[in-house]
Amino acid sequence: MAIIGIDLGTTNSLAACWRDGRLELIPGEDGNVLFPSAVGYVEGEGFLVGAAAKERLLTNPGDTVASFKCFMGTAKEYRLGSRMYTPMELSAMVLERLKRNAERVLQEEVEEAIVTVPAYFNDKQRSDTKKAAQVAGLRVERLINEPSAAALAYRMAVGEEDRTLIVFDFGGGTLDLSYVECFDNVIEIVAVAGDNHLGGDDIDRAIQSHFCKVNGLVEEKLSLEELARIRNLAEQSKCALSASGQADMGLTVGGRVCRAQLNEDILFEICMPLFGKMKQLFLHLLEDADSRVSQIDDLVMVGGSSRLGVVKRFLSELLGKEPVVLDETDRVVALGAGIYAGIRRRGEEIRDMLLTDVCPFTLGIGIRNRSGQDKNILSPMIERNSTLPASCRNRFVTTSDYQREILVKIYQGEEYYVDDNVYLGEVAIEVALKPAGQAWVDVQFTYDINGILHVSVENEMGERRQILLANQALSEEELERYSKELEKIMRPPMEQPENQEMLARFLAYFENSTGERREHIGAMIDYITQGLCSGRKKTVRNAIENARAWLAMLEETQDTREERLFDGRDFYDWEEEEEDQEDGEASRSGLEEEQEENDDAR
Ligand code: ADP
Ligand code: MG
Repeated sequence: MAIIGIDLGTTNSLAACWRDGRLELIPGEDGNVLFPSAVGYVEGEGFLVGAAAKERLLTNPGDTVASFKCFMGTAKEYRLGSRMYTPMELSAMVLERLKRNAERVLQEEVEEAIVTVPAYFNDKQRSDTKKAAQVAGLRVERLINEPSAAALAYRMAVGEEDRTLIVFDFGGGTLDLSYVECFDNVIEIVAVAGDNHLGGDDIDRAIQSHFCKVNGLVEEKLSLEELARIRNLAEQSKCALSASGQADMGLTVGGRVCRAQLNEDILFEICMPLFGKMKQLFLHLLEDADSRVSQIDDLVMVGGSSRLGVVKRFLSELLGKEPVVLDETDRVVALGAGIYAGIRRRGEEIRDMLLTDVCPFTLGIGIRNRSGQDKNILSPMIERNSTLPASCRNRFVTTSDYQREILVKIYQGEEYYVDDNVYLGEVAIEVALKPAGQAWVDVQFTYDINGILHVSVENEMGERRQILLANQALSEEELERYSKELEKIMRPPMEQPENQEMLARFLAYFENSTGERREHIGAMIDYITQGLCSGRKKTVRNAIENARAWLAMLEETQDTREERLFDGRDFYDWEEEEEDQEDGEASRSGLEEEQEENDDAR
């Protein structure tokens, strides 16, 4: 039984696997590893999936669909033949083809897949992706984020050093930026930013407009078919540009031969408005990651549109350094998924390769509006872009006198009013009978990397109610395992016994010091507590490492202080004394007594 990694893309999908100690991309029947994410239906012939469907997109746009990934998790449906299809069902058809391809190439059954999804995908989009895989006959234990997969592939190519990266994934319809920290065996996504309407398609559209302008064509007056032909020419010329730096566009429209030139300078000009948007996204990302350009080691370019020289030129100018362009940018995510499939197949614990992700949306509960309006508002518990796993605890009080129970309703989203967010579930718990504002409950949210949210509510009598919200159906056994893992996560670094113990030692040094030394130790305690509470793996690790080094230093300086204060006199070594006695050696006082006696005798 084989496990494959799949990049289920908006424009193209790919599959990769690990075979005979090597990472391989799996080609389709046409020998191409890029499999267009397109589905068509031809009366009497049935479904067309992949390249055949993509070709028909031009000639028969009415019975062919593409880019359905953009609508994953929504109610949108597409008509093909006599029936409507959801993005989930269409994705299942693509996945099924990839599975069959892999089985043909590998000559064995493929049961399981690691599928990548954009980091910003919400629970519904993730669970629909899993369902699509299930429909295609693939088991998906784990979805991984596209930037995590890209970072895995980058590490494999570049080496295992500690690195801070921005993964720049510029595909057909979207641009996704991720701020990623790689250290030890951890790949941590610190922040994500993206635009769902900024991709290679937009460049094609801009080239199309340029072509029309140069030739005096009015886009609104052209037929859909003519527009599709110009768009297709635009894409071809764009791709030719990355190979030869120059492209001559030529096409007959309405019986007239139209021509236009395309070179790097012209394209740079055409792309200017898109570059403006890109710059804004970089600002967002750096702000969310609380970082700056100088802290980035590498910019990793991923996605088909990253092949464009003008994009690389723009990024070098923006960041003041050369981006890393891995071979064949549009395969990087699939390769990462393949590496991950290899890790799984070898049966290594997933924990060996920790992929830490961020929560792309805010999770919170509904609370009474302070202005007394009827509509409840969202009180955020886990903010978007929090590192997963994440845990947070807050206290809430009653709003009515002698209220018997508190109903905690859980939501996901960024909107002010809860009704505008996605409702996930609720937990009710009795509270102490007290006037408004005096009875309370503690609410704890714990969200793990598999998209499982555990909400626990405890009242002041110590009673607890909880709910586990998963984007998948879990068996009893799995539930138990997850609950155990969650218990661990619920204890943040600040509350872990070894860290508590370490802090206690600093506090003791603080207590026993004065003046400047005391001030220094105070600053250390500040730094360590801030680090432990930061919620960022790397910051926590740095805090712990520094704390250990400082403790060693404090111990040493403690010794030299003692030496100085006691004029370098050695301390009496109690332990050695005891050992000496145990060894049965004569004690010094005994000898002296003997001498005294002798003196008397003289
Ligand atoms: P997605 O991840 O969105 O499925 P891809 O990463 O496969 O998409 O990128 C698809 C986009 O890359 C398309 O817009 C395509 O035109 C563009 N592209 C592919 N090859 C090249 C090339 N050589 N030069 C410029 N753009 C390219
Ligand atoms: Mg992609």
